[in-house]
Amino acid sequence: MDPERPWPLILTIDPDYPVPGELEIPAKLLRGGGLVCFATETVYGLGANALDPTALVRIFEAKGRPASNPLIVHVADVDAAKRLAIWNDRAEKLAFAFWPGPLTLVLPKTNCVLDLVTAGGPTVALRIPSHPVALALLRQANCPVAAPSANRTNALSPTLASHVLSSLGNRVDCIVDGGPCKVGIESTVVDVSGERIQILRPGHITKSQISQALGETIHFEGQTAKGGAARSPGNMPLHYAPQTPMEVFLAEAPFRAKIAQLKALDKRIGCLPDFEENRVQFGFENPWNWEQLLYQRLHAMDGLGLDFLLVWVPGHGEAWEGILDRLRRGTGKCEN
Ligand code: AMP
Ligand code: MG
Repeated sequence: MDPERPWPLILTIDPDYPVPGELEIPAKLLRGGGLVCFATETVYGLGANALDPTALVRIFEAKGRPASNPLIVHVADVDAAKRLAIWNDRAEKLAFAFWPGPLTLVLPKTNCVLDLVTAGGPTVALRIPSHPVALALLRQANCPVAAPSANRTNALSPTLASHVLSSLGNRVDCIVDGGPCKVGIESTVVDVSGERIQILRPGHITKSQISQALGETIHFEGQTAKGGAARSPGNMPLHYAPQTPMEVFLAEAPFRAKIAQLKALDKRIGCLPDFEENRVQFGFENPWNWEQLLYQRLHAMDGLGLDFLLVWVPGHGEAWEGILDRLRRGTGKCEN
């Protein structure tokens, strides 16, 4: 941390019943070009007024993010989204089904959207978050808020205010602590800007849920590291990564074998799940529990100065896609 710079203002807000008056200060900071980190249901966001180029530049500086990676714009209601994007029937159906919630829609942009937000591209990514604190802040700020995850680029995403403080510290003006994020992984990003629908980033909301909401059988274009990287830079092979080397297993036997092997070499290892009882505490077979706790557990283990992190994901299928995607990118070995 830079001792010359002031400590951010940290506000703790009741996650269920935010009082609008409590959010006046961060809302005013946002309107005036400040950087405000805030809780959403997915991960904590690093927010800035999406209509203010100077504020947007500060996001890229604070994160160390390349300008080629576009930002998701958060709004309080569908009318605000319609001012930023050229709306279509699919957007209408998906917004009706999943907003407010952990789904980001990519649509053709309108003229109000700055190039800094879209990395110069013709589309804009939009979301209405469901976290009551995020919604109250967006309403109070009364401007669209560009908000990537509130961490330094490529690091683990934050799901607690303390994660934000240790990653961004006094690079930001304010942190609005709304408790632990309930979904816990980043939003599903779906591109409905063209004829063909594309999932650019898997998440809590699955392909089948999207197909069902659209009421059409959809041929989703494959989400690939190579193709996806150009379309959605969050799909870069190394992203969401802990500092500690990490290995991911899809079956128990090789996971156990690796633990035994590393222990024999006197290596210090962190495991997820880490012991028998933890399976119960962790809600071992439930993908939603994994989503909710994944980053918290990785942050906690990453701070211990271990030699390796070993993770065994016990499920497969689309409910696990978001988790596997983040873990694969966290190891830098992207198989898809
Ligand atoms: P983050 O800000 O870290 O949650 O990541 C935002 C994700 O949304 C990244 O994967 C971006 O590449 C993606 N994204 C944002 N805007 C667009 C856009 N206009 N087109 C495609 N992907 C986008
Ligand atoms: Mg991010």
